[in-house]
Amino acid sequence: MIKPAKPANEAQRLDALQRYRILDSEKEKSFEDLVTVARAVAGTSMAAVTLIDAERQWFKSIQGTQVSELSRDESMCGHAILRPQEIMVVEDARLDARFHDNPIVTGDPRVRFYAGAPLVSNDGQPLGTLCVFDPQPHRLDADKAEALSALSRQVMVVMELRRFALDIQQHMLERDDYEKLLSDYHDVLLAQNADLAEQSRTDALTGLPNRRAMALALDAAVTTRDGQPRQTCVALLDIDHFKRINDFQGHATGDRVLSELGALLRSHFAGAGLAARYGGEEFVVLLPDTDLRMAEVQCEFLRTAVADLPLGFPVTVSIGVAAHRSGDSTDHTVERADAALYRAKAAGRNRVETAP
Ligand code: GH3
Ligand code: MG
Ligand code: MG
Repeated sequence: MIKPAKPANEAQRLDALQRYRILDSEKEKSFEDLVTVARAVAGTSMAAVTLIDAERQWFKSIQGTQVSELSRDESMCGHAILRPQEIMVVEDARLDARFHDNPIVTGDPRVRFYAGAPLVSNDGQPLGTLCVFDPQPHRLDADKAEALSALSRQVMVVMELRRFALDIQQHMLERDDYEKLLSDYHDVLLAQNADLAEQSRTDALTGLPNRRAMALALDAAVTTRDGQPRQTCVALLDIDHFKRINDFQGHATGDRVLSELGALLRSHFAGAGLAARYGGEEFVVLLPDTDLRMAEVQCEFLRTAVADLPLGFPVTVSIGVAAHRSGDSTDHTVERADAALYRAKAAGRNRVETAP
């Protein structure tokens, strides 16, 4: 027995074979049908579609005998793939030096006649054969040889279609994964957006709402409810000589003053009103449903509370208050409060002034 040689490009051939993902797959009707036709055309009792793996010959379909694989060394098809462009015909294996003592010739299924048409991939690699075989010696007429070779090409068409279907299936699975990934990513972005929206309304040092948030709250507070105009006051508060605190106590202490003042404002206006950091060492307070007299009293109370803060050194604030006038813009109300604040500073600081 002469073992089949391995083709020179065996590694590429095996790569090509792997790409079809057909080895050890289930039986499939299309392959069964082609094998049935091959057997009828050649008039043999047995036929098969077989693929030559590294060390074995594996049958995708086999009829007339029962075996699922053989060692490559004992395979006749292993020889057939060495000439991919030709059908290998062995009229009587008993008289062939390569096969006379091969176990499949001397034992079951006692092969005498064999014809194998190589299955050639679209990149020219011989993957296996469509073969017909029989326990009786035969000759293969030219027209039957031609038909067998045509059928081997049909086997390859089915293999290509099968591979294409598997690729599409794979692609769809990957697309599902990809869509899942996109949707997860989208959720993360939404969460980050919510965080950013929150951050964009909050001052990091004091945790108070910032100027942007205050502008929105102010507009909402002055809009009439049930047709009733609402009395709203706005107070601007500025720390006196804050630059000196920074200069003499250090910037970190300056920060601590700002955050202590933030905490005081938050607790002061927790029930009614809203305090925000307006910028630098300035704060703005919104006093809804409050008239100017009441607002001035509240601001006085706040001013003394700041002066009493146990910071270890004196800190005072000046405050300007303005009542919002219906029909006026909230910006203008803030400007009027600022003008009042300016007067409080000019009058010696640590005091509350109201806008006319
Ligand atoms: P006035 O009584 O006229 O308001 O005097 P002032 O020193 O408080 O006012 P000025 O505008 O001259 O200085 C404000 C200082 O506030 C200047 C700036 O460095 C400081 N400042 C602004 N933001 C911060 C901050 O977040 N942290 C600290 N530590 N200082 C700040
Ligand atoms: Mg200032
Ligand atoms: Mg100041």
